[in-house]
Amino acid sequence: MPDYSFIDTHCHFDFPVFSDLKAELTKAEKAGVRKIIIPATQQASWQNLISLSLQHPSLYYALGLHPYFLEQHGEDALIRLDEALKHRTPRCVAVGECGLDFMLNDECLTPENIDKQYRIFDEHLQLANRYQLPLIIHARKSHDKILQRLRKIRLNKGGVIHAFSGSYQQAMEYVKLGFYIGVGGVITYERAKKTRQAIAQLPLTALVLETDAPDMPISGFQGKPNHPAYLHDIFDSLCLLRQEHEREIAHQIWHNSCLLFQLKG
Ligand SMILES: [Zn+2]
Repeated sequence: MPDYSFIDTHCHFDFPVFSDLKAELTKAEKAGVRKIIIPATQQASWQNLISLSLQHPSLYYALGLHPYFLEQHGEDALIRLDEALKHRTPRCVAVGECGLDFMLNDECLTPENIDKQYRIFDEHLQLANRYQLPLIIHARKSHDKILQRLRKIRLNKGGVIHAFSGSYQQAMEYVKLGFYIGVGGVITYERAKKTRQAIAQLPLTALVLETDAPDMPISGFQGKPNHPAYLHDIFDSLCLLRQEHEREIAHQIWHNSCLLFQLKG
């Protein structure tokens, strides 16, 4: 196995399942993962992300409010987010993750919930522009609505559609708006035909890799927590889908991630 270097652009290494973080980082490092970006899901996790990034030189983070945890975030959460971004450390490389999730069960998806999702998402767009940071977007059953929003509030630093699942046409709409497409475990499943076709055809300059660990198990590892060490399996699937040589793919993907998140080499 040639030793390529990878960046996991979306990994929840702050989740309790990774309590022995030093060991987990060693495992990731052995698999060629040199940098890891941890997006925030809830306000209560921000402080921990900041301190993890201070303890481990390979860790970066983003600050935001995930739509899945909407109920936990009161009216002041957005004010706190503004403050946290204003006082961010250099390891904060994005706003997120945020987004619109219309796959929650019907009980959760009340008109109030949907309204609140829109309001919080729009505010993240404003904050990304205010602090000149890219945005990490979570999208489930919501591509059209997200694209609508992104056309209205243009983002100076773009962002990434994390764990993209959808068609080539949908992905290209994002790319035209300056967004990257987060390629995750979905493409390791042969049944994910539409997404695999999209990833095969998109410009290589628009792709970044991610695991979304501990979620989104990759094919063959179902039932186990996902891990950045499996990023290589996603890369292998990507190489099978693409025409370019794997060396070129590895280099371009590394470059894309550094460019998007302003990481140094
Ligand atoms: Zn996530």
